[in-house]
Amino acid sequence: MRNRMKLTFDQQLATNYKSTSQKVRVLTEQWVDNSIFCPNCGRLDIDKYPNNQPVADFHCSNCQEEYELKSKQSAIGTKLLDGAYRTMLERLTSSNNPNFFLLNYDLSNFSVINFFVIPKHFFVPEIIEKRKPLASTARRAGWVGCNILLNSIPQTGKIFFVRNRQVEPKEKVLTEWKKTLFLREEKEISAKGWLLDIMRSIEKLGKHEFTLDDIYVFENELSKLHPENKHIKDKIRQQLQVLRDKDYLNFVSRGYYQLT
Ligand SMILES: [Zn+2]
Repeated sequence: MRNRMKLTFDQQLATNYKSTSQKVRVLTEQWVDNSIFCPNCGRLDIDKYPNNQPVADFHCSNCQEEYELKSKQSAIGTKLLDGAYRTMLERLTSSNNPNFFLLNYDLSNFSVINFFVIPKHFFVPEIIEKRKPLASTARRAGWVGCNILLNSIPQTGKIFFVRNRQVEPKEKVLTEWKKTLFLREEKEISAKGWLLDIMRSIEKLGKHEFTLDDIYVFENELSKLHPENKHIKDKIRQQLQVLRDKDYLNFVSRGYYQLT
């Protein structure tokens, strides 16, 4: 059956709210609650936690995945403002790190432009940018927030349910989610960072098939990201093998690779 996801908000729900930010919160949360299935197990219905839960906004009662919702008017851009820097880093290494839902809406007609999920296994310290501490005149002087660097996340880590007002097939969402679940097995965060860097390098090539020499072009760039490593080419080959073992790519012949 085709997905009949509705892309407009139910404005009726927000008539009692005065401020725009409150209205938006109610409308976007309600839309997610009604429209979004769990990308991990496909359950049609995810549940909203009561407000002000510290952990997440939604969870799936079938597979227990948790999701935090971030909404933004107009384009989502390359950086996303998040909470406290230290809390974020702590969450990355703990098990209660939720997946992120990103909703990009159009307030002129109360509709959804884009909606995608970033699976939690794409969150590594490299994508968290420390912001300047708040000025001494601020109410929370010295508090340090963070940005999530969306352009440092590989495209495979942005799984769209709705892209440019077009609903993507449910099967596609579930397949894309499964494709990178292997990253969860990588408990060591620096090892995971390497895999993500190689995945992003492959994407930069923009090709379905590529050679080892194509990837070696990123040697300099990768050595800046990992100055402690003196054998970048060896590392690249090793990471390509890991990605092959996880069915992320195929080895066509010696030095030739193909994305699955
Ligand atoms: Zn689920």
